Amino acid sequence: GRAQRWRRRRRRRRRRRPRPVPGPGDYLALDLGGTNYRVLLVRMRPPGQPPEIVENVYSVPGELMRGRGIDLFDFLAATIADFMAEHGAAHLAENPAAPLRLGFTFSFPCEQRGLASARLLGWTKGYSAEGVVGNDVCQLLQEAIDRRGLAARCVALVNDTVGTLAACALEDPACMIGLIVGTGTNAAYVERVAAVDKYSTELPAGESRVVINTEWGNFGADGCLERFRTDLDRQLDAASINPGRQTFEKLVSGMYLGELVRLAIQQLVSDGVLFDGRMPEALRQPMSFHTKYLSEPAHCGPRPAAGPPLDMMTVRCLCEAVSTRSAYLVATGISCLLKRIGSPDDVTVGIDGSLFKFHPHFPQRMIDKINELHPDAKFLLRLSEDGSGKGAAAIAAMA
Ligand code: BGC
Ligand code: MG
Repeated sequence: GRAQRWRRRRRRRRRRRPRPVPGPGDYLALDLGGTNYRVLLVRMRPPGQPPEIVENVYSVPGELMRGRGIDLFDFLAATIADFMAEHGAAHLAENPAAPLRLGFTFSFPCEQRGLASARLLGWTKGYSAEGVVGNDVCQLLQEAIDRRGLAARCVALVNDTVGTLAACALEDPACMIGLIVGTGTNAAYVERVAAVDKYSTELPAGESRVVINTEWGNFGADGCLERFRTDLDRQLDAASINPGRQTFEKLVSGMYLGELVRLAIQQLVSDGVLFDGRMPEALRQPMSFHTKYLSEPAHCGPRPAAGPPLDMMTVRCLCEAVSTRSAYLVATGISCLLKRIGSPDDVTVGIDGSLFKFHPHFPQRMIDKINELHPDAKFLLRLSEDGSGKGAAAIAAMA
């Protein structure tokens, strides 16, 4: 009887354990890996009150993306110093006894060994800085911060999908999936610990759920998507800096869709059925057809590519075909995750990324396809704009 009572009490206590919430205080967040690199200072306030956020956007020079890793991380530390000075917050990172805590959104595939320890498995999205793959990126950042003499401590490293999921879940507890459809693509979701063999002995007792970063951008690297790929997909892959990798991403994400349309135009031009068989000057270079043109069907393509109405209609059709395929493939992935989560209740998908945000039909196409593939699913696609940095700060605040 006593044992039973104890068990019952324990169970009750566990159930009453409050959801973790970020504690008040100042946190820094870095968000690296999309088109923009952001630095944020997030002031967490008591539960129920929204955080105060100041942020700067920097662009990472191409030579740093593809140069020496140490220079890339020194650049990150330099932007922190610049940011703190600009916002009159330098004093927050001056006391080594109380370093400013930092959440690092690092949107590349990593082997995560702890909240503040992650080894880069490989670069994606046009990055190739040397001396980073195989190393702990948290440590590389920390060393750069220390070299710079800043009193800041990297306490959490998260993927952008995880940051987006965390930020969205702060506002909507039904959020179980974080999705990015921007320069790259990826999704993370909330899984039951019991369903993950790897964690059976490693997680602190009492944790019943864990966030899984699927890294679905690399889906297909084993050839399983072969029958869905076209010759143009293969051409694009062969000319990329990571052939054979990120196969799904190359069918889906903003970094590649413009180029796919350009390759299709090139094909039709050489078949003699488009632009009188002459490739427009402005489209001769790889990557010269920007993915943003796919989101602006009204003025599709750079001015010099303008041609007879029928040709322009053809180009518009190509844009439609490429972006619709992308939306359908993303929807397929989300249907799988919804099935996997298997919730009878509404599941919110927190989403960020330029393609989802700016393409006029992308969200609706996704909704239609998910409904078709998984008619029982109850879900909500929710834009979680620039949540990845905010989410990293929230996770740093709970670390
Ligand atoms: C990376 C992911 C990231 C995604 C979206 C992919 O290239 O591998 O880690 O989440 O891009 O930014
Ligand atoms: Mg981003």
